[in-house]
Amino acid sequence: MNTIFDNKQLQEKIHDVAELADYLWQKGWAERNAGNISINLCDILKDVTVTDLEKYPEFKLKKALPGLKGGFFFVTGTGKRMRDLARNPLLNACVIRISDKGDSYRIISQNDINFYELRPTSELPTHLGIHEQMVKNGSKNRVIVHTHPNELIALSHSPMYKSEDVLNRILWGMHPESVIVVPRGVGMVPYEIPGTTDIAELTIKALADHDVLIWEKHGCLAVGEELFDTFDLIDTLSKSAQIFIYAKSAGFEPEGLTENQLLDLKKAFHVGGY
Ligand SMILES: [Zn+2]
Repeated sequence: MNTIFDNKQLQEKIHDVAELADYLWQKGWAERNAGNISINLCDILKDVTVTDLEKYPEFKLKKALPGLKGGFFFVTGTGKRMRDLARNPLLNACVIRISDKGDSYRIISQNDINFYELRPTSELPTHLGIHEQMVKNGSKNRVIVHTHPNELIALSHSPMYKSEDVLNRILWGMHPESVIVVPRGVGMVPYEIPGTTDIAELTIKALADHDVLIWEKHGCLAVGEELFDTFDLIDTLSKSAQIFIYAKSAGFEPEGLTENQLLDLKKAFHVGGY
């Protein structure tokens, strides 16, 4: 019997998530069960119906999401390790289908092993809230990545670098790629308890102006159309943060690119309205 897991595009997405999970682990950004990833599968599974839908376990959503009704998402599992996901994605992540009313979801597992052992990330309300907002906005973004990049988290511990203007000027200045890859800069979300509606609301608000955010003293969250491009946003800013911290650790203040050099880069690469 054919299932959604026979879909070649879905298989490719799952393969990509496993590859990214390995990167995150290798980079030291995914200790224990840290981090989570979700992909809106609306483009891939839009005409798919699941046979025997009722046999899959159903879970209520705290907040109904009418904008996502009937939609499918691939999401990493709660309490699961990225390093395990890299080796065996379908035991550590799952496909969920939002109900036709948008008030619950079912876990569509490939086999019965997953039924009661696997639940979506505890950040699911935040992920789905962001996905719903992106759909409402007509955005092509389908991917959300949350991870714990050390140097960017370190900077968010200093009152000196919590200002978005100050932080973006530093990060853009450390390497020419930063302003080209992340022209809208990074947004700073003040510290909140993970998994709460407060962090979800602050995150959705901040994403109006940015594609990548720092959750103060916690980690990064980025959105994008494709998985690896989304990761690249965080990776590029992380590189700049590393260069800044290396220079400071070596005992000197890094000069950074000048305003004119940044302007020339924006013009040369047609970013930021140029
Ligand atoms: Zn986290």
